Amino acid sequence: SEATSDAASVETASAASGDSEDSLSLQEKSLLQKIVRTKLINNKHDIEILRRDPSSPLHSVKSFEALHLKPELLKGVYAMGFNTPSKIQETAVPTLLANPPQNMIAQSQSGTGKTAAFVLAMLSRVDPSLNYTQALCLSPTYELAVQTGEVVAKMSSYCPDIVIKYALRGEENPKGTEHIVIGTPGKVTDWGLKYKLIKLSKLTVFILDEADVMIATQGHQEQSIRIRKALSKDCQMMLFSATYDQEVMEFAEMMVPNPVIIKLRREEESLDNIKQYYVKCMSLEAKYKAMANIYGMCTVGQAIVFCQTKKNASWLCEELTRDGHAVALLIGDLTVEQRITILDRFREGKHRVLITTNVLARGIDIEQVTMVVNFDLPVDRFRQADCETYLHRIGRTGRFGKTGIAINLIDSSESMDIMRQIERHFGVRIELLDADSDDLDKLE
Ligand code: ADP
Repeated sequence: SEATSDAASVETASAASGDSEDSLSLQEKSLLQKIVRTKLINNKHDIEILRRDPSSPLHSVKSFEALHLKPELLKGVYAMGFNTPSKIQETAVPTLLANPPQNMIAQSQSGTGKTAAFVLAMLSRVDPSLNYTQALCLSPTYELAVQTGEVVAKMSSYCPDIVIKYALRGEENPKGTEHIVIGTPGKVTDWGLKYKLIKLSKLTVFILDEADVMIATQGHQEQSIRIRKALSKDCQMMLFSATYDQEVMEFAEMMVPNPVIIKLRREEESLDNIKQYYVKCMSLEAKYKAMANIYGMCTVGQAIVFCQTKKNASWLCEELTRDGHAVALLIGDLTVEQRITILDRFREGKHRVLITTNVLARGIDIEQVTMVVNFDLPVDRFRQADCETYLHRIGRTGRFGKTGIAINLIDSSESMDIMRQIERHFGVRIELLDADSDDLDKLE
C-alpha cells in the first residue's frame, strides 16, 4: 500500500507541473489542423441526410461545371487546384445554391471541404453591384477567421469587384459597403449591434463556422444568438461543425430554423499499411543513439517523433541539434505564430524531423511523413497503454496504398508491457528491430 500511495503522489506532482499534459485548447487544435491540412481527406463514407424539406428535392453534383457558377468564380475554383467537388461539397453546394435559399447544418471532420463549400456559396450569392454587406461569416478566433478570409480571397481572385472586410481586433471600422464580412462574434457584435456600422438585417447569407469550437468559447454562444436575432427571416443561414454531439446540435437547431441537415461520418484512422517495429534500448543514451541511427536512415521522407513530456521532447531536440541534425520542436508552450512557422517549415521540408508531444497526435496528416517514432509510448494517467493516442499518432485515414513505418523505443519492462497491451488491443504484432545493425535496411 506504501508503493501505491507513493505512485499517487508522483502522479499528482507531474499533473500539477503540467509536464505530462501538454494540451492545447480546442481553438488552437482546430487552427493547427487547418494549417497542416493541405489536401482533402479522402472519406469513403456516404453522406447522410438527416432532415430535409420534402418539397425541395436535394440533388448532388459530380462536377463544378454542373453548378452553373459565374465564370469568374469557376475560374477561381480551378485556380485553387480543385477538379471535382469533395464528398460533402457534392451535396452541400447545390443545396446551398438552390432557390429559394435553404438553411443548412452540415457536419464533417476537418479537412473534408466545408470551408470551400460555404465560401463558394457566399461568393455565388453576393451581388457586387449592391453596396452593402450581404454575407457574414462568424469564426471562433482571430486566426481561424483569417484562414477563412484567405480562402475567400483566393477563390474570388477573378472577382475583383467583391470587397471583403475582417471584423477582428485591430481592424478599422467598416464603411458598411463591404460585400463580405468575416470575423469573431465580439467584433461583429460591436459593429453590427452596438454601433450599427453593418446592417445585419440586410444580410442575405449568414454563416456560423466551427460551431463546436464556438460554443466552447466563453461568451461566443450568447453573442452569436444576439447577432442571429438581428437577421431578417429571409437570410440564408448555414452552420458548420466538425463534431456532432448533443450540445452542438442543440445550439445548431436554435440558430438555424428549418435546416437541411447533412452529415459525413468520420473516416477512422487505421493501422493498415503501417509497418510497426520496436527497438530495445537499455538506457536513455541507448534511446538517443537509436534515434540518431534512425535519423540517419530517414533519407526520403520525414519523421515525427513523439515524446510523452515536454521535458523529454526539449532534451531530445537539444541533443540532436548539438550533433548537427536539423530538427524542429513543437510543444504547447509556443505561441500560435511560432507553431505555424514551425509547421510551415516542416511541411516545406526544411526540417526532416519534427519532435513533439501529444499536441499533434490528431489531425497531423503531412503527406511526406513516412515515419513515426514513439520515443515514449503513449500512456494514460494510470500509466496504462493509451491505445487511442497510439492510433492517432501512427494511424492514417483514407490513404490507400501509402505505407508508413512506426518505431517504438522500448526502455524498460514497463514499456514492454505497455507495448504488449497495444499489440493485444489492435491484434497486431510489433516486430523487433536491431537499431545497430543492417536491420535498419528493413526500413527502406
Ligand atoms: P474543412 O473546412 O472541412 O476543414 P477545407 O474546405 O478547409 O475543409 O478543405 C480542406 C483542404 O482541402 C484545403 O486545403 C482545401 O484547399 C482542399 N479542398 C477543398 N475542396 C477541395 C476540392 N474540391 N478539391 C481539392 N481540394 C479541395
